[in-house]
Amino acid sequence: MERVLAGIVEAAVEISGAEEGRLLLPDETTGELFVCASRGFQEGSVNTVRTPVQDPLAGEVFKTGKPIIRGEKTPRKVGTDHAVHAFIGTPIIAGGRVMGVLEVGNCQPGRSFQEDHVALLSALSDYAAIALENAQRFTQAMAERSKLEAILSEVENGVIVADYDGRLILINRKACEAFGVHEDQAAGKRVRDLIQHQDLPEVLHDEELVAPTRIEITLKDGRVMNTEITPIPDLGLVVIMQDITHLKELDRIKTEFVSTVSHDLRSPLTAILGYIELMDRVGPVNAQQQEYVRRVQASVHAITSLINDLLDLGRIESGFDARKEILPFNSILEFAVEQLRNKAAEKSQNLVVDISENLPYVLGNPTRLRQLVTNLLANAIKYTQESGEIRLRAIAEESQVILQVADNGPGIPAADQPYIFDKFYRASNVAENSHGTGLGLAIVKSIVENHLGRIWVESTAGQGAVFTVVLPSVDSKL
Ligand code: ADP
Repeated sequence: MERVLAGIVEAAVEISGAEEGRLLLPDETTGELFVCASRGFQEGSVNTVRTPVQDPLAGEVFKTGKPIIRGEKTPRKVGTDHAVHAFIGTPIIAGGRVMGVLEVGNCQPGRSFQEDHVALLSALSDYAAIALENAQRFTQAMAERSKLEAILSEVENGVIVADYDGRLILINRKACEAFGVHEDQAAGKRVRDLIQHQDLPEVLHDEELVAPTRIEITLKDGRVMNTEITPIPDLGLVVIMQDITHLKELDRIKTEFVSTVSHDLRSPLTAILGYIELMDRVGPVNAQQQEYVRRVQASVHAITSLINDLLDLGRIESGFDARKEILPFNSILEFAVEQLRNKAAEKSQNLVVDISENLPYVLGNPTRLRQLVTNLLANAIKYTQESGEIRLRAIAEESQVILQVADNGPGIPAADQPYIFDKFYRASNVAENSHGTGLGLAIVKSIVENHLGRIWVESTAGQGAVFTVVLPSVDSKL
């Protein structure tokens, strides 16, 4: 900026044929003018940078925002810090604000300026205004950047910003620490070359990533990072990593605890059911007692199904039933459909099954895959009103099978959708009398993840829901 302003002063002196010229800017705190660039001043009389200038003419230009021209013929006496016989001062105005003054002067008598010199100096002042404005914006941007850098380096979360070519724009201290990277070696490098991790560079080089994505990354030291990757148009991808190791550990302890307790609860429950069934065999039971027996049975069944769900979830999550075989996916689907056809019929629902003929094989655990389809289908039947429609559709696409279970029931409110795969979560619009443990979809999600697949839901409240599951398929000849 200083070079540009010096050039402007030089041009002002040349164009106006003046002996001297200078550019004055105000001090932001005191408001006093100081010399920022000057030309032609005799040594000693030149004000050094940041020394305030007591110059009533320049002061007036600065205050009024209007150019001033003075010569020996003008009635007002010229008076500056050194004798000047002729003078022009033009304001430097940017964004409606006076930012400084450009002035030229002649000390020798008989050398006055013309009106057109004022116009030329005003044009130069406009250039100075642009330069000053740009410099100000640049300074502001740099200040913001260093503020942002200070914040980012202090936050406890890892932050990485990369452009769409996977080149690093920014990486903070925590992220460097997590991947063992030196901060000063990182700038401009490709994430793939810098970060040695199987998952993260993959995602950052995924050109199809358009929506925010969440993955869990396990670091070399065993820490688990909840990692959110958000695409930002025209910038690239922003990665935020949060250490959730303690939550994972808590989750593991909780699951272990729940599994143990569930297991221990099963035997007494079986005993209760057994003895209840024996009741009417050992003596007459009146109608009221019969009703109580029925209620006890219903409650014990509800607890049993909760316990079974919990035990299933524990088993799936711990990878207990990892035994997998090559299975024709259509037989899995047909089994689930046959199991639930009656349930749909009881509600006079139309169950439409559309299974593509050449459905490939999948590598999986038959019990769990049946459970996956049954849970989705059972939910669709349970939540959809009488005479509603349930559609099960399965197609093959490249090396995967895509299963969709759609219904025209009440749908799931957008606010609930991110949580419905969580344990014990039930959406806000389920009827109070609808039974459920809130574990069905958590089980489904665990099964899908166990089979290296993906699951998501699309739904608009009041307009039904579509659950889509994508599973990798295998060649049956393998
Ligand atoms: P549960 O059915 O036992 O409540 P799930 O884990 O199977 O538990 O489902 C979680 C929640 O998701 C349900 O409580 C319900 O609010 C919602 N949900 C699942 N499937 C559907 C569907 N097809 N239509 C509407 N809501 C659904």
